[in-house]
Amino acid sequence: MNILKIKFGFYDCSKCSLACVTPLKAILFDIDGTLCDSDPLHYYALRDMLKEFPTGRFNGGVPITEEFFSKNISGKHNEELCRVLLPDWDIQRARKFMEDKEDMFRRLASEQIEPVKGLHKLQKWIEERGLKRAAVTSAPRPNAELLISMIGLSDFFEILVLGNECERQKPFPDPYLKALQALEVSDKHAFVFEDSVSGVKAGVAAGMPVVGMGLRNPEKSLSEAEASFVIKDFDDPKLWTALKELENKEGITTATFEAIWPV
Ligand SMILES: [Mg+2]
Repeated sequence: MNILKIKFGFYDCSKCSLACVTPLKAILFDIDGTLCDSDPLHYYALRDMLKEFPTGRFNGGVPITEEFFSKNISGKHNEELCRVLLPDWDIQRARKFMEDKEDMFRRLASEQIEPVKGLHKLQKWIEERGLKRAAVTSAPRPNAELLISMIGLSDFFEILVLGNECERQKPFPDPYLKALQALEVSDKHAFVFEDSVSGVKAGVAAGMPVVGMGLRNPEKSLSEAEASFVIKDFDDPKLWTALKELENKEGITTATFEAIWPV
């Protein structure tokens, strides 16, 4: 093990490709906007709810735009959104508003959600290698379970970590640290897929490289949050080049190890 530490221990994993996590043992996934393109449905649900705003005049009566959603809402958990969107409301009333919005989101999602392109190819790659996997989300449990089921991954994830069951939610590292602990894997042997600035920061803060999923949020903002690189979907050649590089590195690492301590 010492030789590995000497050779690779100096890497700052937020800056490197995936090859620094050798040997790879686990992959951790955000759900919304990463496994499926659900942000538009969150946007539609929230835009319609805010149009019916009881006091009548959220955002001066102007419907929120997708840009407003991406900048102010995407990746934030509902407790935070209560404060951002409804700062003058009693917290119980604000929570009920967000719960109603989630009901509307689930109605929309149950009709039209699909996996991000290439997801099942990556699923096969992971299963063939026997890697561990977890879903780590700020969404409420009914949303998370619905989305995972809708995209056919109910039997794929060993662990589901909910942000609202952690002491601190994303962008703090707690949900990802909890997932690593549950999987019994070190941060040195895992990486993360995330689509939001908040999520990328959480994965990086937990000590892992994060692959940004640039479905909706700007590549620039994910890179500034220290995503290792940003892909457009799971078919992106950048991802498969990095996985190939990782596999090559694992081969070299094993050969080095065996050359020094022959079995
Ligand atoms: Mg997300």
